Amino acid sequence: MRTVERVVPAPSDLGVELIGVPEGADLDLDLRMESVSEGVLVSGTVSGPIQGECGRCLREINDSVTVTIQELYAYENSTTDATTESDEVGRMQGDLIDLEPALRDAVVLALPNNPLCRQDCPGLCPDCGVHRDDLPADHSHQQIDPRWAGLSQLTRTEE
Ligand SMILES: [Zn+2]
Ligand SMILES: [Zn+2]
Repeated sequence: MRTVERVVPAPSDLGVELIGVPEGADLDLDLRMESVSEGVLVSGTVSGPIQGECGRCLREINDSVTVTIQELYAYENSTTDATTESDEVGRMQGDLIDLEPALRDAVVLALPNNPLCRQDCPGLCPDCGVHRDDLPADHSHQQIDPRWAGLSQLTRTEE
């Protein structure tokens, strides 16, 4: 068994639409590689920073993600190699392992599709686009301009 602790730069497009690991950011790999009869079992954690936008207010989100990986990489010409598809079970390429597909799957699964800057983010006022945090609780666009008040009375009497 071997342990691998390494920092690698994040590949591009590691994430979902609104949030992901910036390309080139430090990914911390903390992995165990165990030789099993059919190949190498890789397990451990990968963590890195994530950056994105709140789905409600578009504020920047800076957070981190840690994912658990457990993936078997079959030896070339092993029974597993012969009986499974390469998208089900990974393959050793010589003695190299391509961790990226497993890493990508795990990270994408761990990320929220609709990331929020905080769970109770109230979002933006749909009328003026100002964050509701920055507006008074009774903020509303329902008030009628006093100069129009007379007019609305007019229409009411016409009905
Ligand atoms: Zn927000
Ligand atoms: Zn408003």
